[in-house]
Amino acid sequence: MTETTDTAARWSLAIHGGAGAMTPEIMDAAMAAEYEAALATALEAGAAVLRDGGSALDAVSAAVSALEDDPHFNAGRGAVFTYHGTNELDAAIMDGRNRAAGAVSAVTRTRNPVQLARVVMEQGPHVFLAGAGAEEFARDHGMAEVDPAWFATAERRCQLDEFKSRKDGWFDADLKFGTVGAVARDANGDLAAATSTGGLTGKRWNRIGDSPVIGAGTYADNRACAVSCTGTGEVFIRVGVAHEIAARMRLAGEDVATATRAVLGEVGHLGGVGGIIAVDAEGTLTHAFNTNGLYRGFADHTGRAEVGIFGPA
Ligand code: ASP
Repeated sequence: MTETTDTAARWSLAIHGGAGAMTPEIMDAAMAAEYEAALATALEAGAAVLRDGGSALDAVSAAVSALEDDPHFNAGRGAVFTYHGTNELDAAIMDGRNRAAGAVSAVTRTRNPVQLARVVMEQGPHVFLAGAGAEEFARDHGMAEVDPAWFATAERRCQLDEFKSRKDGWFDADLKFGTVGAVARDANGDLAAATSTGGLTGKRWNRIGDSPVIGAGTYADNRACAVSCTGTGEVFIRVGVAHEIAARMRLAGEDVATATRAVLGEVGHLGGVGGIIAVDAEGTLTHAFNTNGLYRGFADHTGRAEVGIFGPA
C-alpha cells in the first residue's frame, strides 16, 4: 500500500548547538539574539531540505554543516583549542535505514568534518577514521580543505588561556560545551543523526569524546529513533547514551521522551552533564538537558520553526 499524502508530507528536524551554563542573567539579550539567529539559519538549512522532499541524511548534513561554518559553536570554525593550541575536529553521521555510519576524529584541515564522515560512510570500507589517515582519505575523495587557521577564533584562544591558568580540572568550569548536532525524520519515514565538535578546551593525548563514537554521541535506527548528544563526553561514552535510548525504545517499549530522560538521568548519576535531542520513527521530537541551557531548534511539516537557549529543560 502506498502512503497517503498526509503521512508522506510528515517530516521533523531538531538541532542543537551544545549544552552549557547559560542563563538570561549570564547572557545578555543581544548575545542571546545572536545565537538564536545562528540557530535559526542552521535550522532552516536542514528544514529546506525536508520541505523539498529531501532525505533525513541530507537534512542533518546541511544543518550540521551550517553550524560548523558558524563561529558561535564548538565545531568546525569556532572549535575549541587543544592543550597545544590546535583545533582537532570530530564528527559522525548515521543513516537509520540500514545503520550505515561514518565517523572521523582529530581532523585538522577538512572544512566540514560532518561531510567527511558522510563520505567515509558512503565511499569507504570502514566506519571510523582518525587523524592523518582520515585526512589522507579526505584528500583522495576531493574534500574541501582549509588552512587550520580558518578554525581558530580569538574567543576560543582566550578560553584556552583561561583553562591553562586555572589548572583545576579537565572540564570547562563554565560548561560551555557548544558541540553541534541534528536529528531528522524525512517524509519517507527515514531517520538520520549527525554530530560535530571540537571536543573539550585543553584536551590532549589525542582525547576523543562521545560525539564521533557511534552509539555514544550519535545513533540512528529506523526501528527506534535518531539521537545526537552534547556534554561530558567521557560519561556519555560510558553510558552508550544514544544507543541506550534506542535500545530502551525497542526492547522496553519506552517512548522517545521517556527513554531520553531516563538515560540522561543515568548520565547525571555518574556525574555527567549535557543535553540530548532525539526523534522517533513517527517524527516525534524530544530534547532533555541537565545543564542550565541547551542551544536548540525544532522544525516540522506543520510550519513549526522555533529556537531556544535557556531552561527549564
Ligand atoms: N561531548 C563533547 C565531547 O566530549 C563536548 C561537547 O558536547 O561540547 O567532546
